[in-house]
Amino acid sequence: MGPRLAERLARLDIRTVQDLLFHLPLRYQDRTRITPIGALRPGIEAVIEGEVQLTQVQFAHRGIKRRMLLSQLHDGTGGITLRFFHFNAAQQSTLARGVRVRCFGEVRFGKAGLEMVHPEYRLVSENSVTTVEESLTPIYPTTAGLHQQGIRPLTQRALGLLHNHPDTLREWLPDAVLARLHYPTLREAVAYVHYPPPDAPLELIEQGAHPAQRRLAFEELLAHHLSLRLLRQRVQRHAAPELEARGKLMAALLAALPFNLTRAQQRVIGEIRRDLAHATPMLRLVQGDVGSGKTLVAACAALHAIESGHQVALMAPTELLAEQHLATTRAWFAPLKLEVALLTGKIKGKARAEILTHIASGQCALVIGTHALFQEDVNFARLGLVVIDEQHRFGVHQRLALRTKGFNHGLYPHQLIMTATPIPRTLAMVGYADLDSSVIDELPPGRTPVETVVVADTRRGDVVERVHTACRAGRQAYWVCTLIEESETLQCQAAIDTAAQLTAALPELRVALIHGRMKAKEKEHAMRRFKQGEVDLLVATTVIEVGVDVPNASLMIVENAERLGLAQLHQLRGRVGRGATASHCVLMYHAPLSQYAKARLNALRATNDGFEIARKDLELRGPGEVLGTRQAGLLQLHIADLARDQHLLPEIEQTATLLLNNHPDHVPPLIRRWLGVGAQYGEV
Ligand code: ADP
Ligand code: MG
Repeated sequence: MGPRLAERLARLDIRTVQDLLFHLPLRYQDRTRITPIGALRPGIEAVIEGEVQLTQVQFAHRGIKRRMLLSQLHDGTGGITLRFFHFNAAQQSTLARGVRVRCFGEVRFGKAGLEMVHPEYRLVSENSVTTVEESLTPIYPTTAGLHQQGIRPLTQRALGLLHNHPDTLREWLPDAVLARLHYPTLREAVAYVHYPPPDAPLELIEQGAHPAQRRLAFEELLAHHLSLRLLRQRVQRHAAPELEARGKLMAALLAALPFNLTRAQQRVIGEIRRDLAHATPMLRLVQGDVGSGKTLVAACAALHAIESGHQVALMAPTELLAEQHLATTRAWFAPLKLEVALLTGKIKGKARAEILTHIASGQCALVIGTHALFQEDVNFARLGLVVIDEQHRFGVHQRLALRTKGFNHGLYPHQLIMTATPIPRTLAMVGYADLDSSVIDELPPGRTPVETVVVADTRRGDVVERVHTACRAGRQAYWVCTLIEESETLQCQAAIDTAAQLTAALPELRVALIHGRMKAKEKEHAMRRFKQGEVDLLVATTVIEVGVDVPNASLMIVENAERLGLAQLHQLRGRVGRGATASHCVLMYHAPLSQYAKARLNALRATNDGFEIARKDLELRGPGEVLGTRQAGLLQLHIADLARDQHLLPEIEQTATLLLNNHPDHVPPLIRRWLGVGAQYGEV
């Protein structure tokens, strides 16, 4: 084909014959039979055939005078009007009285009864046996400059290849699997989905529940799952330092704390320490709801590695969180005589040089930082463990890149990924199947669940009063300003303005401000004062979303809560409810609420359980958004829909095991078919 067509197809991600075959119809038109006009209902698309009774030009007056052509068609069972806004004289004379016409179009209900607006039509003669289509007509996703009529012949040619060349879309699923699941072969499934027969169960197809569709979704999800399983197998062939430690440092830290580990924390720390002692790299995901005490778990893992003579890197998603981790771990590690350093992009010059020297000499035991930690020229003497905090949106490519960067003396560091956004098991199977998983399924004792209310911003005055009352009673509050995320500047300005308003409205309260545009020192200062109780009300942007820990804060106000996603709101709310006092979260919204925003706010009001919220999130947003992989270009599903197809996952796991054990040679081509050649995850 020519370059112009190729370019248009590329816009639809179609580059190969296979891409065309996997470019599935959005829906179908039924042109397989002629519907009697008397049986037509508004809303359906149908082929009809009848005789023209009358054709005339009419004028409509809707602001401007408009000409249109109306043609009355009858077939003995009923009549319908064909309506054309654009027409020429030839058309007018062809649709003459007594002529037979076949039309296809959508039926709607107009002023004068049933009508079709701009139907496709052609004349038919009384005695000619004209045929109808033999199968349903596919309607494909299209792009500018490429219409259905342009794409259909291409797909038909691709399907022709499929019929004539047995090597197109070879079958990689074992017969036994196909038989057990009652699935057609891949070739049959693809052919069926493009051109279903006239008697196809359309309702089933619309729900994506036809075996032919299921089979395609199944194979796609299987390919993603397999690619991660394969990656996992390869990682297990890599070498990592065996981190052996009796746990002296950890015991010293725990002895100094005013509380005991929860049982869940103990269990997870145990799982991590066992992994660290192995000569293969740990790849473990720790999921624990907001406030479940993940920092302490990370600190214990770090102490294990440090005791065995290695260094640890801790990566946080924001500078603010990195700074908080620095303060926390310094307080914990100082009595143990361990050096902790912060390395962010903002630390420059001599200070930076000194930290780099300490990292390179091994003197610095724990280095905390943001992404800059690995982007810069940082050389560890003996990096044993990398902890990635609050990074559920950490795709497989990033995990690999980070591991490669820590590669040292033929060894890969162990990796611990911590997230407060629980990943539903189903999603984990296709997004995280290369990782082991630990769950901190218990909160420290004595916490009272956060009570959430949803109010319109017309009641802002009441909300301000509520802050007043709470702070006067000795509690602390957050006031979070949100704006459309793309503009950090605007968001900061909103926080600045709000802080000024609230300061004026609440002269008795000590109000402070924190946002992403402030200098690290200023942020630190504001955070420290809030933590020490010198500030009553902290006005903030969403920079405080993750990780921030001030147990005395018990009231959280979120403005324009309708703009944020479920996971983000849950995270924000997680900033309160960290102490013993009953906490409250006020989600303020600006009316009108979309259906979807309403569902989100209701879900938050209904539950505090992060796993429940994650499931809801998956249902409402889909996996690409939940994992943040859509932006990152990861986990691009073409056919499968995780929410719709999640019931397939147990079978997928089984089939993956079967293939890896009995047909390992089928695995790479199967992965390549769905993930492309660029997706050889295992190649690091
Ligand atoms: P998250 O899991 O959200 O990262 P943090 O690690 O910030 O939670 O911990 C939340 C708070 O709970 C911190 O103030 C921390 O010191 C405290 N904490 C952690 N573990 C325990 C425990 N076992 N008992 C009581 N408090 C704990
Ligand atoms: Mg945390």
